[in-house]
Amino acid sequence: MKQLIHTKYKTLTLFLIIGMIIALTSQCESLIKSFVPGGKYIVGGYKAVKKLKEVYKAYNKEFTPKEEYYIGRTVSASLLKKRRMYSRSGRTPIENYIAKIGNTLAMASNLPETYQGYRFIVLKSRSINAFAVPSGYIFITTKLIETASNEDEIAGALAHEVSHVVLKHPTKSISSARRTEIVLDLVKYGASEAASASKIKILNNLTKAFGGVIDDIGKGVLNGYNKDREKEADIAAVQLMINAGYNPKGLSAMLRKLKVGGGVHGNPKDRARDVDNKIATYGGKIPKMRRCRKNRFKRYVRKGKIRRRAR
Ligand SMILES: [Zn+2]
Repeated sequence: MKQLIHTKYKTLTLFLIIGMIIALTSQCESLIKSFVPGGKYIVGGYKAVKKLKEVYKAYNKEFTPKEEYYIGRTVSASLLKKRRMYSRSGRTPIENYIAKIGNTLAMASNLPETYQGYRFIVLKSRSINAFAVPSGYIFITTKLIETASNEDEIAGALAHEVSHVVLKHPTKSISSARRTEIVLDLVKYGASEAASASKIKILNNLTKAFGGVIDDIGKGVLNGYNKDREKEADIAAVQLMINAGYNPKGLSAMLRKLKVGGGVHGNPKDRARDVDNKIATYGGKIPKMRRCRKNRFKRYVRKGKIRRRAR
């Protein structure tokens, strides 16, 4: 029902915006009343048409890599307020090791580069978790690393998160109501007079709406996405692991170690079964676990504990 109202509201807004563009393009050069509820007036002519086209584009838009980067940085900063990084430098042996696995996967993905590159961040935490933020900020907890029995299982968790970034799930979690709010504020902002009190008020609203965007993404990132998106990321992760030379069974093995809830995305047992079904379609043509990776894992993680110094 809620969805239906959103869709109706979205359609109505789109209709009004298109209506305004048509009105403006039919040589109404003078003053044209904006249809924005409680809005002011929009001065017509070429400029206004351009502005409305921009607004229309913004309504359905995908963010540019640069915009994603700034959103990602803000979301990461807000998440780090309540969480501790493994080290200040982010360059201890275990952090470099995780970055090596992550970058190998990112390079084998359909989005090997983001605006400022991928970043893999180890968090000190006793809960098993990993999450991804727009533009390729990927977080993984020490507990998850210590729960893994081999490198392929760590790669499984990271491949799932890289896939969320590739599939743009974090920015897709911005609610449609929030997008509408931003678009309407943009129209009002364009319509009000420069430096007027209302312009400042609208700007404040926009800043608040941007805070809401960060909240929307933060919620999606931490609580997981809907079932379909989680499945989509798991299926993409299987192919990604194969591309990077990892055994994708590492992903289903890691999923079987998780419990429902506590930040775990979806039902892990069901997801593990779906991942195995997908792997079965490759008919055994999947990479085997590599010896060098076995040794490397032992060098950094031993008996479920992260080594302070790698041997
Ligand atoms: Zn997920």
